[in-house]
Amino acid sequence: MSQKRVFSGIQPSGRLHVGNYVGAMRNMIALQKDYFCIYGIVDYHAMTVHFDPKEMEQSILDCAIDYMAAGIDPDRSVLMVQSTVSEHTELAWILNTITPISWLLRVPTFKEKREQNPDYVNMGLLDYPVLMAADIVLYKAEVVPVGDDQLPHLELTREIVRRFNSLFGHVFPEPKAQLGEVARILGLDGVNKMSKSLDNCIYLDDSREEIWKKLSTAVTDVRRKRRTDPGNPEECNIFTMHKAFSKKEDIDYCARECRAAGIGCLDCKKILLENMCKELEPIQKRQAQLREDRDAVQEILVRGRKRAKEIAVQTMGEVYTKLGINAYH
Ligand code: SF4
Repeated sequence: MSQKRVFSGIQPSGRLHVGNYVGAMRNMIALQKDYFCIYGIVDYHAMTVHFDPKEMEQSILDCAIDYMAAGIDPDRSVLMVQSTVSEHTELAWILNTITPISWLLRVPTFKEKREQNPDYVNMGLLDYPVLMAADIVLYKAEVVPVGDDQLPHLELTREIVRRFNSLFGHVFPEPKAQLGEVARILGLDGVNKMSKSLDNCIYLDDSREEIWKKLSTAVTDVRRKRRTDPGNPEECNIFTMHKAFSKKEDIDYCARECRAAGIGCLDCKKILLENMCKELEPIQKRQAQLREDRDAVQEILVRGRKRAKEIAVQTMGEVYTKLGINAYH
């Protein structure tokens, strides 16, 4: 293998927000420089919660457009749809047979989702981390860009890899997590994760006016009640957003002046608005161009499928040999 591989899955779950962008996309874009990256739009994962089949095709296409607009280069990396490479689910089945149920029951996201959707606790929800493990190891990825909430899933992948390799012989490398540089930014409420269902997001395609409307009412350091109170930037989500979008001199200025009550929160947010728009506007321009050429985007996904399939077939050949079933394939 000449170049180390990266795999990351992208859920086709509607409009992307700046939390997705900072938490995962930027890292995925940067990794393209040094690694061979395979980015899968993970439609099977999206089926573990309620979804509308009438919207799925469009969501997949929108997802591909958003990621390419942000900087995923389909000439350099593979952009593909998970369900078009059937080896993902074949390998997931095999990994299921060596994964104790107790490992899955302790995964925090399963517990969360079970509480959020008590009427829809399906087998796929429990098995999600095994399919995720299959997604990664099918391409022998050694690096996985993740948010900190995904770390338990990756640890589980590593445990499954160790078990497979020790039972049947070495096939898979143990993948390592690569966290983004900026801490996770919270939603506009300053408390919860940025999430569509909580209506606390700034979307990648929000206009400048929409962004300002949201930022101007966003929660800051809750202990700073008046303009004359010194603030604590480290306890302010707006400041975390500055760290994600602003240049160093603006970050330093806001931190200093906040602590000295030299600026008000609206002044601070205006600086953030400028820096955020500077980064988002070129992405929005590319989104608009790609939306005009949907056929070309579909072709890219077909090409991605072919490239991914070649690698997947090769890996599964090795897996079948180790399991003693290759003679029949
Ligand atoms: Fe937050 Fe800026 Fe207000 Fe300080 S001045 S509390 S960093 S928004």
